[in-house]
Amino acid sequence: MSAKFILRFDDFCPKMNWEVWDQLEAILTKHGIKPIIAVVPDNQDPKLDVSQSNPLFWERVSAWQSAGWSIAIHGYQHLYSNTNSGLMKINNYSEFAGLSYEENYHKLEAGLQIFSEHNIKVDAWIAPAHSFDANTVKALLALNINVISDGFYWRPLKRQGATWIPSQMWRFRPMPFGLWTVCKHINRYTNKDIKDFECDIERYKSDIIAFNQALDDYTICELTLFDTLFEKFWHSYLKFRQKIQPVVNMIKRIFKVLPRS
Ligand SMILES: [Zn+2]
Repeated sequence: MSAKFILRFDDFCPKMNWEVWDQLEAILTKHGIKPIIAVVPDNQDPKLDVSQSNPLFWERVSAWQSAGWSIAIHGYQHLYSNTNSGLMKINNYSEFAGLSYEENYHKLEAGLQIFSEHNIKVDAWIAPAHSFDANTVKALLALNINVISDGFYWRPLKRQGATWIPSQMWRFRPMPFGLWTVCKHINRYTNKDIKDFECDIERYKSDIIAFNQALDDYTICELTLFDTLFEKFWHSYLKFRQKIQPVVNMIKRIFKVLPRS
């Protein structure tokens, strides 16, 4: 099977950037793309508050779900309480990793209650800052959330009793094989970002699948040694790219200002 992509949007809450989102949603609808949306049930993180509160927020979430989009619980309040990087070891801050099972359970239960009050079915877990641990997974399973969008794998797999749909990229790029989730944070998008987004959608749309479709299309096996090795390789690759990015940007700027013959 050729490489497939899932599109994921993080940090959705009533005060998100609606001006940008309305334009992106129109692009998604035009091209028939069904993304997964990470909703913060009770956002208290001021960094995510960038516009007037939308009183119809939950009606919008409900409409996306009715249209076949997937909805994930993205933490509880999006407030980081410690410096634990959890299983993923991407960021040194967390709302969940490092807490007891009971603390994880109560936060998740409170978040899920809010979805339930708005008649939204939660399809998956998306951790704020990719930071969660074994206690979080145990609590999720106890609350009947058994799908996680995370992990630097090349395919969906089973780990610690849950199904992990990997999430490894922040922008589209050609891949030879595998399932790749492209994770977007849209609050600070410029007009150019919106144009670039539409170009990407036009280029990749035939290979973008819905999150729930991945659960049907792939045989989901237990984590293997090869998966763990791939995860380590991808982690190192991302770290390396992050380090050399300033140099790459500088070279691009130099080529831009050079006169063309
Ligand atoms: Zn977030």
